[in-house]
Amino acid sequence: MAVAEGVLPFRQFVLKIHSRCDLACDHCYVYEHADQSWRGRPPVISPETVAKAGERIAEHARDHGLPEVRVILHGGEPLLAGAAALASIAHGLRRAVEPVCRLDLRIHTNGVRLNAELCELFRAERVQVGISLDGDRAANDLHRRYANGRSSHDQVLRAVALLRGERYREIYAGLLATIDIRSDPVAVYRALAALEPPNLDFLLPHGTWDSPPPGAGEPGATRYADWLTAVFGEWTRDGRRVPIRMFESIIETSYGGVSGTESLGLAPSDVAVIETDGTIEQADSIKVAYDGAPATGLDIFRHPLDAAAAHPAIKARQQGIAGLSATCRQCPVVTSCGGGLYAHRYRTGSGFANPSVYCADLEKIITHVRADEAARRRPAHAMPQAHFDALAAGYGDATSVSYLSAAQRSVRRALLRLLRERVPDDAHGPFAAGWNLLIRLDKSAPAAVEEVLAHPYVRAWAERCLRTPGAVAADAGHLASVAAAAAVRSGTLAELDVPVADGYVHLPTLGRLRVGDTGSATATLAARGEGAFEVRAASGKWHVASGAAPEPDHDWQPVRELRAGEVAVRFEDTDPYRDCHQWPAAGRLTDGDAAAWQARFAAAWRLIERDYPRYAPGVAAGLVVLLPLANDEPGREISAAARPAYGAVAAALPATGADLALLIIHEFQHVKLGALTDMFDLCDRTDQRVFFAPWRDDPRPLGALLQGTYAHIAVTDYWRVRRHRVDGRDALAAAERFARWRTMTAEAIETLADSGALTPLGARFVDGMRATVEPWLAEQVPAAAAVAAQRWAAARREAWQRQRES
Ligand code: SF4
Repeated sequence: MAVAEGVLPFRQFVLKIHSRCDLACDHCYVYEHADQSWRGRPPVISPETVAKAGERIAEHARDHGLPEVRVILHGGEPLLAGAAALASIAHGLRRAVEPVCRLDLRIHTNGVRLNAELCELFRAERVQVGISLDGDRAANDLHRRYANGRSSHDQVLRAVALLRGERYREIYAGLLATIDIRSDPVAVYRALAALEPPNLDFLLPHGTWDSPPPGAGEPGATRYADWLTAVFGEWTRDGRRVPIRMFESIIETSYGGVSGTESLGLAPSDVAVIETDGTIEQADSIKVAYDGAPATGLDIFRHPLDAAAAHPAIKARQQGIAGLSATCRQCPVVTSCGGGLYAHRYRTGSGFANPSVYCADLEKIITHVRADEAARRRPAHAMPQAHFDALAAGYGDATSVSYLSAAQRSVRRALLRLLRERVPDDAHGPFAAGWNLLIRLDKSAPAAVEEVLAHPYVRAWAERCLRTPGAVAADAGHLASVAAAAAVRSGTLAELDVPVADGYVHLPTLGRLRVGDTGSATATLAARGEGAFEVRAASGKWHVASGAAPEPDHDWQPVRELRAGEVAVRFEDTDPYRDCHQWPAAGRLTDGDAAAWQARFAAAWRLIERDYPRYAPGVAAGLVVLLPLANDEPGREISAAARPAYGAVAAALPATGADLALLIIHEFQHVKLGALTDMFDLCDRTDQRVFFAPWRDDPRPLGALLQGTYAHIAVTDYWRVRRHRVDGRDALAAAERFARWRTMTAEAIETLADSGALTPLGARFVDGMRATVEPWLAEQVPAAAAVAAQRWAAARREAWQRQRES
C-alpha cells in the first residue's frame, strides 16, 4: 500500500484489551473525566479485533519500513481479560507483527491481580510489565482504592515483589506514579526507589484550563514544580540510581536529545490507541478535554492506520514548535517542555492553542533541572567572568561558590589518581580494596562517593600521603575507610578490611568506632545496608544499627551536626586527618560542649543571614565542616582555614555568637581564595620577596598578603555593619575597628597593586577588592575612631620602617 504524503508513522500502539477496571481510582482518565465513551464499548476485546489489530500494525510497519514497534496492552485493567485471553493476544500479535519488524510488547496494569501464573505467561511471551503505584501507602491510598474504599497497596506490593524476584526480573518494566501534591514527595520517591524499578515515571494529574487539577493553573502557584523539585533533590542525593523518565527527558531535550515521554518535548506524537471495539483514537489523556475528544471516526476494520496518521487532530500534534501557542513559541524552555501534554492545554474557545495548565510548574521545574545539570557539566576549571568578579569584590553567591566546589572535586580526584600510581598494587590490601569499592560505588552510588570525597579531610589525608615521606606506606589504607563510609551512606552491601588507628575504626563523615587494642592494624567492616554496619576484630564484634546512632553508646561516636534553619554543617571532632590547621584540633567533645557550640552557631548564623546577606549564600553553599580547636588559653580567640581542607572552618569556641559570626565569614574568605588560587594563578609564584602586612609583625610573601587582605575585607565589612547594630561604647569600639581595618586593608590593596608580581587576572582581582573598599574610606566615623585608626596605622608603618632599616 502506498504511504500518504506527509504522514508520520505511528510507532506505539495502545491496545485496549479490557475496558473495565477492578479499582475505582478517582484520578483515572478513563472513567472519571469528560469523555465517557467507554460505556458503549465491549468490555473485552474479541479475537477478531486482536487479529485485525495485528494485521493493521504489521501493515503500517511494513509500509513505513519500521524496524520496531511497541504495543502496550492496556485497559481499563488488562489483567481482567484473564490468562488464556492474554496468552492468545500476545501470541497473536507476535505472529502477525514479527515477520515484519521487532515487537516490543508490554502490558500496563494496576498490579492487583498479577500472580505467578501470569508472570510465567508474560515471561514466556516476552511481555514487559509496568505497574501503576503512586508511592508509599499513604500516597497510594489517596486514590488507588477498590470501589468499597479498601486499599490496593498490599496487593500491588506483592505484584512488584514477584517482578523483582530473580525469575521475573527480566519482565519488570517499571513503575508509573500519578502525583498528588498532598503527599510527601521524598517519602513517595523513597518508597518507589526502594522497589528498584528499571524505570520510574511521574505523571501530572490530568486536567485542563476548564477543569484545572487541584493547585494548578492559579497565578503564581507552582506547587507541582515544588513537589517535583523535592523529588529531584532526593533523586540526585540518592545518586540517580533509578531512571526517572521526566527528569531524564528534561536533561536530554536540554542538550539536543529527544524526550522519552509524550508529555514533554517537541517530538511529534507517534501514539495511536485501538479500543476494544477496534476504533482508532488519539492518546487517552485527551479524554479529559471533552466528551468524544479522542475520537477520530476511524476503525481498524475499515481504515488503515495511515488514515489515522493523516487525521487533522493527529497531525496537529506533529508540528513541533509551529503547532504551539504564541506564548509557548517564545518560551525559553520550549524545547524541553513542548507546551506540556497536549490534553493539558485545552480551554473551551481556544481549544488546544494554549500553554499547559501546568505552565508555571513546567517552566520552574525545567529551569531547575537545567541549572543543576549545567552545574554538573561545567568544566571544572572554568568560571564565568561575572562570578570571578563577584568573588574578587569579596563576596560571591552560591553559584560562584559552586564553581569553586566543582574545581575542588577535580583536584581531589586527581590527587587520588596520583596516589593510586604511588601505591604498589600488592603492598596495601586496604588501599586496593578501598580503591576497587570506590570504583564500583562511583557507578552505583556516585552521590555518596562525592559526599565522602568532598569531606575536607579526605584531600588533607591524600596530600599528607603524597607529601610526607613514609606517609604513603603508613596512611594509604585510609582509602578503605573512605570507601566504607560511602558504602554505608549509600546502603550498599560491602565487606573490606579497614585500618584501626589509635584504637578506632574511622568512617569519614560518619564517625568512629572504638575497638580498642585489636592486636591487628586492621579490622573487617561489613556494610549491611540502610546505614547499618558491623566491625569484626580479634578483640570483639560491634554492630552499629545506623550511621547516626546516638550516644551514649560510647563505642560508636557519630559526627554531630550544627544546625541553624536550613543550614547544617558537620561538627567534626573524630576524623583522624583533621589536625591540619594552624592550631591543634580539639579531641572528642562532650555532649555539653557540643550543645554550647550548637547554641553559638545558631546565634552566629542568624546574625550572618540578617546583617551579612552578601556573604551568607556563599558560606551556606560552601561551608561543610566546623572543626573545634583546642584552646589552652580560655578567652583567646583563635580560628583557621587550611588550603587542603576546602569547606572547613576551624575555631575555638568564642564567647558569643557575634564573635563566631566574625570568625566564620573571615575564615571562609580564606576558603574561597584558597580554592580560587587552585584554579587560577593570581600572582607570580616564583617571586621570593616579602611585603609589609599592616596587621602583622612579620613581613609576608605576596600570596600570603593577598590572602590576608581578602580576609580583612570581610573583617572590615563586619565592623562596618556592626557599628550600627550595637550601642554606646560598643558602637564606638566597633567604629574604631572599622576605621582601623579599612585603613589597613586599603593600604594592603595598594601594596599588592604596586608589587609588579600580579598576573593580569590577579590585577583584575585586586581591582575588584579595591572597588569594594574604596567607598568605605569615605564613610563617616566618629572623629575619635578616625584619629585612633590613623595613629595605629602610622605606628605600624614606623615599626615596619625601623625593621627594614635595621
Ligand atoms: S513552560 Fe509554559 S509557555 Fe513554556 S512551553 Fe511550557 S507550557 Fe508553553
